[in-house]
Amino acid sequence: MVYLNGNFIKKNKAFVSVMDRGFLFGDSIYEVLPVYEGNIFCMKPHLDRLDNNLKTVNIPNPHTSEKWAKLLRELLAHQPKHKHQYIYLQVTRGCDVDRKHTYDKLEPTVYMQSTSFEDSNRDEYLLGASAITRDDIRWSQCNIKVTSLLANIMYAQEAKQNNVEEVILCRDNVVTECSSSNLFIVKNGCVYTHPKGPHILPGITREVVLECADYCGINTEEVPISKEDLFDADEVWISSSTREVLPITKIDSVLINQGQVGEIWPLVYDRFQVEKSLNG
Ligand code: PMP
Repeated sequence: MVYLNGNFIKKNKAFVSVMDRGFLFGDSIYEVLPVYEGNIFCMKPHLDRLDNNLKTVNIPNPHTSEKWAKLLRELLAHQPKHKHQYIYLQVTRGCDVDRKHTYDKLEPTVYMQSTSFEDSNRDEYLLGASAITRDDIRWSQCNIKVTSLLANIMYAQEAKQNNVEEVILCRDNVVTECSSSNLFIVKNGCVYTHPKGPHILPGITREVVLECADYCGINTEEVPISKEDLFDADEVWISSSTREVLPITKIDSVLINQGQVGEIWPLVYDRFQVEKSLNG
């Protein structure tokens, strides 16, 4: 069952008009919320980010946080009892009578679906994953979680064709984030990640990772990271709602830490698992 504009219906019965601006222009905002054993992880930060993003693009938020929380729980109640799932939520500006770039007052379209997913596997993560680097061709408002994801999709497909986990993006020799995750490096015991701003999505998982590092007594700094720093790092990690925090041990065929997951990652990953069990 999925949710569309006030109704819980079967996915194959859920249709959106061709006049929907989400379809025509990608004029819409989305969120992805992980759900562990029925508990929505970091619901408030996700709903706050949704609200901020909607305000930024001038789409009225159709619901209060309380109403969103209620709808999310109702959506979960309609699912078969998956152990873990993630909710995809999308709000478009709505349907107009004809296709035009400008808009007047419209009724937003709200769509939500839930998909089961495998929890992260520590042993698998300890094998390390690979990535490639590419120039960031995206626009300069990557902080907004918009559904116009053509560049991200092109990178994801390139990652798939190269049999790697992610594409690390580079702007003026600074590595900012990845096609669908944030980026961290560790050097001499300190965790570094790009500061919030127009060139990265302010990942909810990124915040949790920084908090976990902090909890473990590890220093963190939000500063730009050069491509040289990336290849010279002791550890490289990526983070996202569906991957949590995942170590990268090979980039563009260059081994990081001789291809071994470093010492700091397990501390942060283990603390992350505790956060998951506490947060709901
Ligand atoms: N950056 C980009 C470009 C992303 O698409 C995502 C997740 N979809 C992230 C970072 C990570 O964000 P979050 O931790 O909120 O899932």
